[in-house]
Amino acid sequence: MDHVHLKRKLESLDGRGYKAYKQIRGAYSFHRFTLFIDYVQGDPYAAPSRLRVRVPREASGFPPALSEGRARRVALEDYLARAFRAAIRKHVKGRRGSGRSGMVDIDSGGQEILERTAALVTDEFVELRFVVGLPAAGRRCLGREAQAILGGEVPVLVEESLSHGSLDAGSVKAHVEAAEDQQALRELLAESGLVAFVADGAVLPRESGVSDLPLGRGRVVEFRAPAELRVEFDLPNRGRVGGMGIPEGVTLVTGGGYHGKSTLLKALERGVYDHVPGDGRELVVTRADAVKIRAEDGRRVEKVDISPLIADLPFDADTTAFSTENASGSTSQAANIVEALEVGSRLLLIDEDTSATNFMIRDEMMQRLIAKEKEPITPFIDQVDTLYREHGVSTVLVMGGSGDYFEVADTVIAMENYQPKVVTQQAREIVASHPGRRRREGGGRFGALVERCPRPGCIDPARGRKEKVSVRGTKTIVFGSETVDVGLVEQLVDESQARAIAEMARHAVRAGYVDGDTSMRELLARVLADVEQGGLDVISPHIAQGAPTGAHPGDFALPRGFELAAMLNRLRSLRIEQRRPAAGTPCTAAGHAPGTRCAAGSPGRSPPG
Ligand code: ADP
Ligand code: MG
Repeated sequence: MDHVHLKRKLESLDGRGYKAYKQIRGAYSFHRFTLFIDYVQGDPYAAPSRLRVRVPREASGFPPALSEGRARRVALEDYLARAFRAAIRKHVKGRRGSGRSGMVDIDSGGQEILERTAALVTDEFVELRFVVGLPAAGRRCLGREAQAILGGEVPVLVEESLSHGSLDAGSVKAHVEAAEDQQALRELLAESGLVAFVADGAVLPRESGVSDLPLGRGRVVEFRAPAELRVEFDLPNRGRVGGMGIPEGVTLVTGGGYHGKSTLLKALERGVYDHVPGDGRELVVTRADAVKIRAEDGRRVEKVDISPLIADLPFDADTTAFSTENASGSTSQAANIVEALEVGSRLLLIDEDTSATNFMIRDEMMQRLIAKEKEPITPFIDQVDTLYREHGVSTVLVMGGSGDYFEVADTVIAMENYQPKVVTQQAREIVASHPGRRRREGGGRFGALVERCPRPGCIDPARGRKEKVSVRGTKTIVFGSETVDVGLVEQLVDESQARAIAEMARHAVRAGYVDGDTSMRELLARVLADVEQGGLDVISPHIAQGAPTGAHPGDFALPRGFELAAMLNRLRSLRIEQRRPAAGTPCTAAGHAPGTRCAAGSPGRSPPG
């Protein structure tokens, strides 16, 4: 239908009951774009209406090179959503009546560039998905006001954001090139034996504890790589860049309080994502499988084999299949590690500030006072190097309060006035001149990684007869009758990722992946493969039910499998069958022979392959 038709319809709705707006669902052609009204809210106070605008690729003027390859396409989409948001701020009048009347909004990102459903760039078209509060006076349609938005404001927004000619071409190009460089850098890490890279000139500190924006220049000490760890890379767009490469193995970050240790680690945590130009961390890149590990007492744990780290708990609690409704600091931290390894993490990031001390260290005095037989915990210090040798799992660990880790660290970095210095040699000399009185605990073996299969029915989005799924920021995911606390899952960085996680869990159930024979690792792989194949839209229940004009999923952002696993592992309803590798199969979870059935019970630890 023509846009003039929409105009007439809206004018005729003026003064009628709000439900009459339902009639405007449909597609309308404007001069340069098509407007889709996919979902119309039932009430001015309800969730706003969902719309899309689509411009033919040709007419949009974006050169094909801007979206060649996944990195560039995602970054271009990200840019367009941001441009649309900027245009909204500039041109939309805002409140035009009761409830959400007059609001126009799009789900655009923060400092990270994430794949999101708010924008879609293909060879045929560019599309933005956004929401509009259709205006009302009380509960009566304000059709003329609606026309002012849909026929007046929206075309201006489209003109400013979906046309290459009206955007700053240099800034669009810089955006996609920055993302492409970051992904190239991430791939270069592995072949260089590095786990992370921090470029010279990077700005790591943030404006405040509640803002992810960079601390203002002038107050920042820019990052400079120490000579010993200096590496250079050639990036596809930026060319040669230099900075600090953190090698695989065990890296200790130490130094005085308030000298920038945690700030460095935080930047590494976020380095699994790409950042926007100007963020300061756009050349701070970490392996994609890095997982932040912390203590999280109170969380639920379901049948996790934490026995390499904790054994012989009081009352004979079985730590090869450890379950609790209320984990302690140390058991929660152990479970967080084992769960991350189970689904493929090969880099652990740990900060003393958020760790359980008794999990991290057990010093000589304590070894004298409390016999090993009376201490269930094998401190992480006695497994951290074993983890690397046996499973290729590296660790970057911040610790300023104890020198015990000198002995096991391959690299020691001291932060001094926010600048890194390599002190590995000094730390070794100190160890050598103070021969260890601390005795090593643990058998020098971590053991096989056990896979866990969620039982059928235990992941359930239903509450009563209806399915219920929603989120509150990045802290809480409501899933069926449960409220899942993901507030301490620190690499879940965007509310739209939380929404996607909830829908991915629902998708896994719908697709039949929760069948008791599919392990957590396989489940993540299958969900992510579906998304890879069909785009992030596939997790939307509306798309899945084939609704022709359902509510478009314009507010998902792609999470990693690790964060999806974190949500599932925190479900209080989760029920697991362990699947232990048969003797002779490789001992890493990733190398586990496919198709092996999950076995009930826990037959004890099998020898590593
Ligand atoms: P630590 O973990 O060593 O105790 P933090 O990393 O928490 O220290 O940093 C202490 C303070 O210094 C924080 O307020 C942080 O924002 C600030 N800061 C960190 N790095 C820098 C930097 N490079 N330049 C300026 N301020 C910084
Ligand atoms: Mg700190």
